[in-house]
Amino acid sequence: MDSHKQPARDVLELIGNTPLVRLRGPSEATGCTILGKCEFMNPGGSVKDRAAAFIVADAEARGALLPGGTIVEGTAGNTGIGLTVVANARGYKTIIVMPDTQSQEKQQTLRALGAELILVPAAPYSNAAHYVHTSRRIAEETPGAVWANQFDNIANRLAHLRTTAPEIWAQTDGNIDGFTCAVGTGGTLTGTGMGLKEFNPDLVLALTDPEGAALYNWFAHGELRAEGNSVSEGIGQSRITANLEGLSVDTQFRVPDTEALGYVHDLQQHEGLCLGLSSGINVAGAVRLARDMGPGKTIVTILCDSGLRYLSTIYNPAWCAAKGLPAPPWLRDA
Ligand code: PMP
Repeated sequence: MDSHKQPARDVLELIGNTPLVRLRGPSEATGCTILGKCEFMNPGGSVKDRAAAFIVADAEARGALLPGGTIVEGTAGNTGIGLTVVANARGYKTIIVMPDTQSQEKQQTLRALGAELILVPAAPYSNAAHYVHTSRRIAEETPGAVWANQFDNIANRLAHLRTTAPEIWAQTDGNIDGFTCAVGTGGTLTGTGMGLKEFNPDLVLALTDPEGAALYNWFAHGELRAEGNSVSEGIGQSRITANLEGLSVDTQFRVPDTEALGYVHDLQQHEGLCLGLSSGINVAGAVRLARDMGPGKTIVTILCDSGLRYLSTIYNPAWCAAKGLPAPPWLRDA
């Protein structure tokens, strides 16, 4: 897609139209062209800016969000950041509910942007204290507030159907054989996948799950059953959200953290790409898809957010050691 020739009208116009970058190591290892979509370059620093912009525009169009209103959301952090960026540009407030297990950097970013941040202990989705249910209750109790409801509000996947998919199609001139990514809400995989399949029904769509998520077993065996666990943030789903409804994939992978972290560290050290762990899960999935499909194919995946959001975790040797994970090799003696 063209980059902006004119100054952008506002920050909303800076969302999307992110570049694709060839991932040299993964491409050379597979004989394929593996491309990453640089979603970390969005103004709020993640893929979730797209969903935030569409969710806010939808709430405005429905008349649910009036000037000076409040947007409430439960989030692992990135959607809250995206919503707050959009809210600040459009004159709204945000109340963001986040599990206290998510990175300090995302908490600090939300506070710096002016969101009202409410940290809650991590709880299963079936528990009324879960961050999603807490955010819904707060929205109901707050005058002039709307609940963004990213998991079950399909304005989320529409963002990817209308923007991410056509951008990827145009950027590859239609030379794309496969697409894969992990699922948090499912907006990215479903919206981008459905959009790309509209352009080419033969494109191979793959789910890449982290450990501890239930969708791998759902697509492989028809049962929603989670196994293992992951320190990744923002991904790992155990239910069929509205954004996942109607999705069918051609194949599925389940990637352990150690494998994903290897890609994150390699891409940082050898290609200058500083990424979060969900991007590593996605790249690992793209490599597996490339191996399944054979040399010469073009596979696209999502580089969801920046590693700068995880300096205290996956780029911190002490933290990695405590989790039994490989430390960034260049930091081992720091
Ligand atoms: N990676 C990160 C870091 C995220 O924050 C999210 C969103 N929760 C995702 C991936 C997954 O995106 P989606 O919600 O569209 O499935």
